[in-house]
Amino acid sequence: MRGGAPENLAPSPKVARHTLGRGEDRPTTAARYVYAYRFTRHRIAEMPSAVDCAEAAYQLLRDDFEAAETERLIVVLLNRKHRPIGIEIVYVGHVGGCSVRIAELFRAAVRMNAPAIIIAHNHPSGDPAPSADDVRTTRDAVAAGKLLGIDVLDHIVVGDGRYFSIIGIPHE
Ligand SMILES: [Zn+2]
Repeated sequence: MRGGAPENLAPSPKVARHTLGRGEDRPTTAARYVYAYRFTRHRIAEMPSAVDCAEAAYQLLRDDFEAAETERLIVVLLNRKHRPIGIEIVYVGHVGGCSVRIAELFRAAVRMNAPAIIIAHNHPSGDPAPSADDVRTTRDAVAAGKLLGIDVLDHIVVGDGRYFSIIGIPHE
């Protein structure tokens, strides 16, 4: 069965205005906001290969996280070949202090029919060691994903120049 055809996705008008890491880091009192965008054909063409492991997700997102001044939680939406078809910033601001609502992790994936996702968030402290909450959230997300038919390939925590893979899936 074929997934969606990301090559044919029309660029969303939001893409031009919303580039990760640029202009999205103004401190907001509302710690949470949501938007999703689809990669333009150009950006998909830049992708070296599938984003199917923690390392690939880190390489995809590291510049965005390094440019971020605040904590953020990002979901990478993937097609059946695990090529990225979009990114959703689920939270910006204070992520660790509140429990992430599992439903919000899947909102964009459901809307865009993405069969797989990778979750990522950063620790501004620079230490990528996951908190107990991070581990619990990952476990809950994997279980919820099974019910929804959406594979949660990994949840990475990005620190200062390094990352931690909570699921730690092996390369195939
Ligand atoms: Zn964390």
